Amino acid sequence: MIPFLDLKAQYASLKPEVDASVIKVLESGQYVLGEEVAQFEREFADYCDAAHAIAVNSGTSALHLALLAAGVGPGDEVITTPFTFVATVSAICSAGAKPVFVDIDPQTFMLDPAKLEQAITPRTKAILPVHLYGQMADMDPILEIADHYHLMVIEDACQAHGAEYKGQRAGSMGVSGCFSFYPGKNLGAYGEGGIVVTNDDAQMKKIRMLRDWGQEQRYHHTIKGFNYRMDGIQGAILRIKLRHLEQWNEARRANARRYTSLLAGMAGIETPVEVSNRRHVYHIFALRCGDRDGLLRALQAEDVQTGLHYPIPVHLQRAHEDLGYRIGDFPEAEAAAKSVLSLPMFPELTSRQVEMVAAAVRQDEHVH
Ligand SMILES: *Cc1c(COP(=O)(O)O)cnc(C)c1O
Repeated sequence: MIPFLDLKAQYASLKPEVDASVIKVLESGQYVLGEEVAQFEREFADYCDAAHAIAVNSGTSALHLALLAAGVGPGDEVITTPFTFVATVSAICSAGAKPVFVDIDPQTFMLDPAKLEQAITPRTKAILPVHLYGQMADMDPILEIADHYHLMVIEDACQAHGAEYKGQRAGSMGVSGCFSFYPGKNLGAYGEGGIVVTNDDAQMKKIRMLRDWGQEQRYHHTIKGFNYRMDGIQGAILRIKLRHLEQWNEARRANARRYTSLLAGMAGIETPVEVSNRRHVYHIFALRCGDRDGLLRALQAEDVQTGLHYPIPVHLQRAHEDLGYRIGDFPEAEAAAKSVLSLPMFPELTSRQVEMVAAAVRQDEHVH
């Protein structure tokens, strides 16, 4: 069997360091926030070329607080993509605002800047582009339009730790950028975690307060806040794992290059496009397939695990039917949901495994 993801292989490679760091936190008594989390914040801000980072307890919390700190609230609209993980949209709703969708560019599967302007209304407050699969959205036109209409741009970088756009790191281009450390992400905790990075001092101060019950000083609650703090143990683990992130991202990129060359020229299959001037970090390696469900069954028969990211676009999810969207509203997102298939992708995947997966995909071509 070839797994979609192998988190245990990565732990095995780090066990002595990680175990020691966890014990250190247990002995320190700093179980929530504390020195390890503070150090991790500095190191992750540096990694993103950003001035500040505020660690929280999930990527969803990071998005929620970034939106609130940007002043998003009831009566506001936030423009985003319908082809994302549902958390992007849930965070907008949690902030009390209304999500407004824009269809995707079929080549990159991300928010199409050419369709952005027509979605702007007097109520639009922010744009929330998602750096899907590990590649950054087309930030230049998005930032230009945002600037023209005085809108905030918040990056959903939950899949894009270390991705770049014209040499700029994910998270550093908008007013803030949000990351998830869910275990399967390129940088994953051993539990839940997230972070907001920003170059803006006021955003940083507000997000720091919001994550810890709105207090500037103990029991002095200046604003209404939340308990969104990061655990000390996760901070310590993430510090160790951050030192390996570049090497892991490079291993993902090497696996992606191998898949791309092994699958080149196959009828009915399009491999992911790395747009020039962008560094894709391949959180997900998603094919576009003519007969997606046929290929899915063929790979299942060969014991190759696959994923679907995502089978239903958010505008067609029952949870968000109150937004009033229907089938046909975003044809590119709907077509993508029917045609994408994600192949196994993680740093420890061996070249032999990549070859076996590619051979299984190629074999399916001969059947059809
Ligand atoms: C993972 C993810 C999130 C949510 O992060 P959690 O840590 O699971 O809350 C948000 N947006 C995108 C695009 C994601 O992939």
